[in-house]
Amino acid sequence: MDTDVLIVGAGPTGLMLANQLVRRGIRILIIDRHTGPSVETKALGVQARTLEIYSHLGIVDRALELGKRGTGGNIWADGQRRARVALTDAGEQMTPYPYLLVLGQDDNERIMGDHLRELGCSVQWNTELVSLTQRADGVTATLKLHDGSEQNIVAAWVAGCDGARSAVRESSGITFAGAPYEHVFFVADTEVTGSMIPDEVNVYLFHDGFHLLFPMRGKDHWRIVGILPPDLRNKPDLKFDAVIPSLKNAAGEGLAIKSCSWFSTYRIHHRRAVRFRDRRCFLLGDAAHIHSPVGAQGMNTGLQDAYNLAWKLALVIQNRAKPVLLDSYEQERVPVATALLNGTDRAFRLVVSNTWIAGMLRTKVLARVAAFAVNRKAVQKLAFRTVSQTGIKYPKSFLSKSTDALPETAPQAGDRFPWLRLKFAADRPVEDIFQKLGDMHFNLLLIGQPEIEDSLQDSGDLLCIHVIPADAVNNEELARRQIPQPSFYLIRPDGYIGLCGTRLQTDALTDYFVQHLHLLTRQIVGNAA
Ligand SMILES: Cc1cc2nc3c(=O)[nH]c(=O)nc-3n(C[C@H](O)[C@H](O)[C@H](O)COP(=O)(O)OP(=O)(O)OC[C@H]3O[C@@H](n4cnc5c(N)ncnc54)[C@H](O)[C@@H]3O)c2cc1C
Repeated sequence: MDTDVLIVGAGPTGLMLANQLVRRGIRILIIDRHTGPSVETKALGVQARTLEIYSHLGIVDRALELGKRGTGGNIWADGQRRARVALTDAGEQMTPYPYLLVLGQDDNERIMGDHLRELGCSVQWNTELVSLTQRADGVTATLKLHDGSEQNIVAAWVAGCDGARSAVRESSGITFAGAPYEHVFFVADTEVTGSMIPDEVNVYLFHDGFHLLFPMRGKDHWRIVGILPPDLRNKPDLKFDAVIPSLKNAAGEGLAIKSCSWFSTYRIHHRRAVRFRDRRCFLLGDAAHIHSPVGAQGMNTGLQDAYNLAWKLALVIQNRAKPVLLDSYEQERVPVATALLNGTDRAFRLVVSNTWIAGMLRTKVLARVAAFAVNRKAVQKLAFRTVSQTGIKYPKSFLSKSTDALPETAPQAGDRFPWLRLKFAADRPVEDIFQKLGDMHFNLLLIGQPEIEDSLQDSGDLLCIHVIPADAVNNEELARRQIPQPSFYLIRPDGYIGLCGTRLQTDALTDYFVQHLHLLTRQIVGNAA
C-alpha cells in the first residue's frame, strides 16, 4: 500500500481533510492538478462553525487576524435601509464567534496549507488523477505527473475533494443529479464608497435581482456578488465596467468605484451526488454538492464534510473501529446537503426570479417582511443558527442514541454539544468548554451523577471523562442551556452528541462503543468487549 488515504484536490475541502488526518497520524498523499495554490478569492464567508473547527486545529487566530468580522447584515431596497440583523447579538451565547468572518478562499487555503506543512506534509501539485480501479483491499489510482508521465499508486481509501467536475465521482459512476441555473453570477473585489454600512454585509434588493456587498480587509474594500443582467449573460470577455450601471441602479448613484482588482463570472448549478461513497472512495465538498452562493455556505459545507469523515476514517485505518462506522458519513452528510440545496434553491429563486410580480415582491414585500422578522429575537437566533452551521444536527444517524428520554428542551443525541463556560473542578476558574475538550478523542461529561462506577476511567487517547462539579456557576450555566441534572453526554471528536441520558451506566457506554461506533479496542471503558 503506497498510502492510507489519497486525497484528490487541494481546495479547502482537501486541505481540511489532510490536516485532520495528518494530525491523527494517518499517512496521506494529497494531490492537485494545478501548479500551486489558488490566488482567487472565490468563497469568502467563513461561518462560526468553521471557526470553531479552526480553533481546534490551531489556526483560528491567524484567520481572525487576516479576516474582517461582519457583525451585522443590512437589507436595502428602493434606496433605503429596510432591515438590519445584528449577528453579534443573535449568536453571542451560541458560539465564541458570533459573526461572519469575511476571509477569501485563497487566504483560507493558504492558512490550512501552511498548517499542513507545519505538520510535515505538503501538497503534490501538478499531479492529476486520471482513473481509479477498486479492489477489495485498496484502490489503484493512475496519476498524471508534471512531466506528462503516468504513475500507478495503491491507496487504502480515496477522498474525492476534486470539485464540481470530480474525477473520483465520475470514475465511481456516481450521478451528479440536478441542473444549472439560467443565471450567471459575477464576483468582483473592489475599492468602492457608497451607502454601505461599514464592516457589515449589505444586501441591495432591486426589481431585477440583488447585489451583495461584503466588507473585506482594508479601507473601502468590498467584495461584490451579483447576478448579471440577462443581456450580459452570453457576452464573451465581459469586464467589470459592464455591470456598473446595474450596480448603481441597485445601490444608488452615490456608489463611487475606485478600482477593481478581480472580476469573474460563473454559471452555477444546484446538484447533489446521489451517493457520497462507492466502497473505498468518498466524495466531499463541491464534488458531492454544489448550489448557489446565497448564504455563503459552499466552502463551509465542504469543510464540515471533511471534519465529519476524518475522525471516523482515522479510527478505521488505525484498526480501532470496523469499516461499518464509515457508513455514518453518508447517512449524516447527505441530509445536510439535501437541506442546503433545497434552502439555497428556494432563497435563490426568490431573489432572482425576474417576473414583474417577483420584482414587486422582492423590493416591497420581502424587504418589509425581513424588517419585521429580524426584529424578533427568536427569528434572529434561528437565522444565525442556520447560516452559521452551528444548528446542523444528525438526529437520525445510527451514531445518535439516548439511554432514556431527556427533556425536549435539553440538547439531544445528534446535536452539536452547545458552547458552555463551566468549572471543571470546584477550585478552578471557569473554562470555555470548546477550549477544554479536545477534538482528538471522545469526551464524556458527567453532570450531577449520584455515583460513578469504578470501571469508568479515561482510556488513553480515546476517551476523556470530565466530572462537572455541582457549583453555583455551573448550575446557572447548565440551566441556561436547559441541561438537566443528573445527565451525561458522550461527545464525539467532531463535537456532536453521540450518546446521552440521565444516569450513566458503564454497560450502556460499552454497548454504544461496541455496537454503534463499532470500536474494536478492548480498553475503551474498563473491561469492554
Ligand atoms: C468564481 C467563483 C466564485 C465563488 N464564490 C463563492 C461565494 O461567494 N460563496 C461560496 O460559498 N462559494 C463560492 N464559490 C464556490 C466555492 O469556491 C466552492 O464551494 C469551494 O471552492 C469548494 O471547495 P472544494 O475544496 O470542495 O472544491 P474546489 O475548491 O473546487 O477544489 C477542488 C480542487 O481539486 C483539484 N482537482 C480537480 N480535479 C482534479 C484531478 N482529476 N486530479 C487532481 N486534482 C484535481 C482542483 O484543481 C481544485 O484545486 C465560488 C466559486 C467560484 C468558481
